[in-house]
Amino acid sequence: MHIINRIAAFHEEITAWRRDFHAHPETAFEERRTAALVAERLRGWGIDVHEGLAKTGVVGTLRRGSGNRAIGLRADMDALPMEELNHFAHRSTVPGKFHGCGHDGHTAMLLGAARYLAETGNFDGTVHFVFQPAEENVAGGGVMVQDGLFDKFPMHAVYGLHNRPNLPLGEFAMRAGPALANADNFGITIRGRGTHAGWPHLGIDIVVVAAQMVLALQSIVSRQTSPLDAAVVSVTSIHGGSSDNVIPDELRLRGTARSFSPEVQDRVEASLRQIAGATAAMFGATAEVEYERRYPSLHNDPDRIAVCAEVAKAIVGEDHVDVDHEPGMGSDDFSFMSNRVPGAYVWIGSGPVEAGRFLHNPRYDFNDGILPIGASYWARLVESELPRKA
Ligand SMILES: [Zn+2]
Ligand SMILES: [Zn+2]
Repeated sequence: MHIINRIAAFHEEITAWRRDFHAHPETAFEERRTAALVAERLRGWGIDVHEGLAKTGVVGTLRRGSGNRAIGLRADMDALPMEELNHFAHRSTVPGKFHGCGHDGHTAMLLGAARYLAETGNFDGTVHFVFQPAEENVAGGGVMVQDGLFDKFPMHAVYGLHNRPNLPLGEFAMRAGPALANADNFGITIRGRGTHAGWPHLGIDIVVVAAQMVLALQSIVSRQTSPLDAAVVSVTSIHGGSSDNVIPDELRLRGTARSFSPEVQDRVEASLRQIAGATAAMFGATAEVEYERRYPSLHNDPDRIAVCAEVAKAIVGEDHVDVDHEPGMGSDDFSFMSNRVPGAYVWIGSGPVEAGRFLHNPRYDFNDGILPIGASYWARLVESELPRKA
């Protein structure tokens, strides 16, 4: 393992930042304390700071030499709206908020790299340290782009890094092309005619309609999507009804749909609308469909991933970098950025976890052992992408 010595020397300090963020989690667009600490530290190292992009986003800009190439490194700062069930000293002090995805660690790692790069300046060009709000659920990364991230801070490429429990510590995983799915949400409101449950023939029973609809929606993936394309349609909630002897008037289904290509995404949405409408019509009911495309799928640029792979190999060794990792049906709003400029998003292994303590589990714990590995990766990536002229 070739962790940068200078970064290893402040491992304890990076850990202290991480645990402080962990103890004070902030959710979507409310990362004020976190953003202020990030901005203060960046300024302290002589880095230009722009605050307030997408409300609480922070961009630090560091220039060295005369090169005109610019790249962006992105970390997310938000916590999840969930209760932490850990009991260590730095556990969340805010009820109902928890860094259950390790964004506290991502923020600390990028800060560590920023400090090292500001001190050593062993590169030629411009690096933008992008600290974004609201990665979970509400696409803060998309808002950063909308609010002019790439106009204010033009860059040739953008990079993302996410911790991955159950991937061995000191391993990196990545792939060129599709890596994470799009995340679409849908809601279907079914309306029939409520009636006494003992006289069902006087109404239109939308509970039966909903049951048929949930099953029919499963044919989108099994029968209307090529077996060679990946897609998911999950109905995740059904709400309606209030009494054992009343057939309700209205009922709502909600769920998520995922895939990797715009073509499959279009087909899934069209099929979902058609099946919902036709299933309802079959019984004389109606279905109103809302379909929202939340996060686009994430596609890694092959050339940029090749650079990431070389950098990761130089740090953890050839055998510890999986360059053909399987894609996942999760999503990350980094895709809003990598849809605009060539991008590469990689996983850093944080080792085995007990009893399902994966990302978003209430007992998830970020492994501080990966902080200097991640920070070294960021630093070496900058030195590789913005090499100093000999
Ligand atoms: Zn997450
Ligand atoms: Zn995350």
